[in-house]
Amino acid sequence: METIKTDFLIIGSGVAGLRAAIELASYGEVLVVTKEVLEESSTEYAQGGVAVALSDEDEVGIHFEDTIRAGDGLCREDAVRVLVEEGPDRILELIKWGAEFDRIDSKLDFTLEAAHSRKRVLHAHGDSTGKEIERVLINKVMSYNNIKRFPYSMTIDLIVNDEGRCIGAKCLKDNEIHYIFARATVLATGGAGQLFSRTTNPSVTTSDGMAMAFRAGAVLEDMEFVQFHPTVLYAPNAPQFLLSEAMRGEGGVLRNIYGERFMERYHPQAELAPRDVVSRAIISEMVRTKSTHVYLDLTHLDSDFIKKRFPRIYRTCLIYDIDITRDRVPVSPAAHYTMGGIKTDINGKTSVPGLFAAGEVACTGVHGANRLASNSLLEGLVFGKRAGESASICIDEELELLQVKDEENHITVDNYSEIRTRLRRVMWERVGIIRCNESLSLARDELKSIGEAVRGSFLDRRSLELKNMHQTATVITETAIRRRCSIGAHYRSDYPSREGCMYHIQCKTDEKEGILFTTERVG
Ligand SMILES: Cc1cc2nc3c(=O)[nH]c(=O)nc-3n(C[C@H](O)[C@H](O)[C@H](O)COP(=O)(O)OP(=O)(O)OC[C@H]3O[C@@H](n4cnc5c(N)ncnc54)[C@H](O)[C@@H]3O)c2cc1C
Repeated sequence: METIKTDFLIIGSGVAGLRAAIELASYGEVLVVTKEVLEESSTEYAQGGVAVALSDEDEVGIHFEDTIRAGDGLCREDAVRVLVEEGPDRILELIKWGAEFDRIDSKLDFTLEAAHSRKRVLHAHGDSTGKEIERVLINKVMSYNNIKRFPYSMTIDLIVNDEGRCIGAKCLKDNEIHYIFARATVLATGGAGQLFSRTTNPSVTTSDGMAMAFRAGAVLEDMEFVQFHPTVLYAPNAPQFLLSEAMRGEGGVLRNIYGERFMERYHPQAELAPRDVVSRAIISEMVRTKSTHVYLDLTHLDSDFIKKRFPRIYRTCLIYDIDITRDRVPVSPAAHYTMGGIKTDINGKTSVPGLFAAGEVACTGVHGANRLASNSLLEGLVFGKRAGESASICIDEELELLQVKDEENHITVDNYSEIRTRLRRVMWERVGIIRCNESLSLARDELKSIGEAVRGSFLDRRSLELKNMHQTATVITETAIRRRCSIGAHYRSDYPSREGCMYHIQCKTDEKEGILFTTERVG
C-alpha cells in the first residue's frame, strides 16, 4: 500500500485527459494515471477526423446548427456554442504544437461527413486522425517536467471525504493499491462501448469513470443515449474494425446482400443520413433479407484515391482478404459512442466538489440525443482544456490525506469470461439499436441475476471492470425503460413517436431507492 500526493490527478490519457493535463501544468504538479500505455484509448483509433468550422465556405453558426439538428433537440445550447466557437482555436493551437492535418497544396483539406452541411472534417494521414492528435498531445505532455505519468494503473474508486468532496483516487498497479491524494481530480476515462458485444471501442472502455463517479455520489445524465456506428467490419475472424463515415462521405454506398442500394428508401439523405437512421435501416434490411450483414461498396471510386484517402482501412481489410478497391465490404452496426455520462457544466464541474470530468465520460449536453460525426475529438480538446482551467482553481485547496479503511477479503468473479460475454450479449440484443419494453424488462432481469455474480470486494482488473460494466449497464437499461418515446439514438419500437420526449433523465445513487431518477423538461 502506497500513498502518493499530487496537486492535480488526471484519470485517463485520451484527448480529453491529455489536454486537461497540459492546461494544469502551469498551476502545479500533475499526475496522469492510465490503464495501459498512454496511447491506448478510443482517441488513438479515431479515423475519420475532427470537425471544425475553419474552411472559407464554413461558419461557426452553421456548425452550431448542424450539431443541434443531429442532437435532435436535446443539445444544451450553451455547450454547443462553446464547442463550435472555441473549436477553431483548439485546432490552430494543435497545429502550432505540430499536428499534421492533410492538405491539398498548402490548404487544409476538409471533407464531408454525414449530417454536416459543409465540408468541415479535418483528417490526418488519411484515416489516422486520432493517432496524430494523440501523438502531438503526448509530445506536449512529455515537454513538461511537472506532468508525471502513471501507466498500467487502474483507478478503482474515487476517495471522498466526510463532506462529500473528492480528494483523490484509489488505484491498482502491479497488484498493489496506491492511494493518490490530490487537490482536484479530473476524470477522462472515455466511454462505455465494451458493454456491448459488438463495439468499435478498445478494451479499456469499460465505463469505469461513470461507475466510479456514480458510486461517489455524482449525477449521471441521459445514459440511455448510445450511438451505434452503422458500418463496422463483419468478417469471420476479423476484429470489429470501424469503416469510417468518411467512406460514405467520399461516395461509398450501402447495398443489401442482393446488391441493391436501399438507403434512399429510408431517408432523403440516403447514405449520409444521421447515424442512428443508417444503423436502423441496416438492421431492418438485415432482418428483411435474413442476413447477418450488408455491404459497403466503394468499387466505383478511383482505386488510387481510395488507397491514399483510407490507407489504414485499406491495409487492415487486405489482411482479411478484402480489397476495398475491388470488393464490397461486409458490414453491420456496433456500439460506438456514449452521449450520456457524468453531468457537468460547461467548465467540467461535476456535482461532486473537487471532481471534474471531460470527454466521452462526461455529459455536458453538447451531443444531445445523438452526436454529430467527428464532434467528439473536438469535444475532448475544448472541454479538456476547460476542465483543466476550472480544476486549476483548486490549487488553493488544502491537500487532504485520509486514512482509508479497506475491505480485506478480496475475491475474483467466478466464471469471469462467461459472465462478461453474457452481460455484453444482453446489452447488445436487448438494449441495443432497437429497444422495447419487453426486451428492456428481460435485460433488467438478466442484469439482476448477473449482479449476484459481481457482488463482493475485488482486487483484480478483470473483476473490477466487470463490476463497473454491470453498474453502468444497469443505469443504461433503467433510463432506457423510463424514456417511453424515441429520439436521437434511443429508439423504442413500442413508442416510435418523438412526442413528449423533450427531457433529460438524471440519476444518482440513493440509499433507499438504489438509484434515484429525476427528469428535467426542456423548453
Ligand atoms: C474506432 C473509433 C473511431 C472513432 N472515430 C472518430 C472520429 O473520426 N472523430 C471523432 O471525433 N471521434 C471519433 N471517435 C470517438 C472518439 O475517438 C472518442 O469519443 C474520444 O477519443 C474520447 O476521448 P476521451 O479522452 O474522452 O477518452 P479515450 O480516448 O477513450 O481515453 C480514455 C482513457 O482513460 C483510460 N482509462 C479508462 N478507465 C480507466 C481507469 N479505471 N483507470 C485509469 N485509466 C482509465 C483509458 O486507458 C484511456 O487512456 C472514434 C472512436 C472509435 C473507438
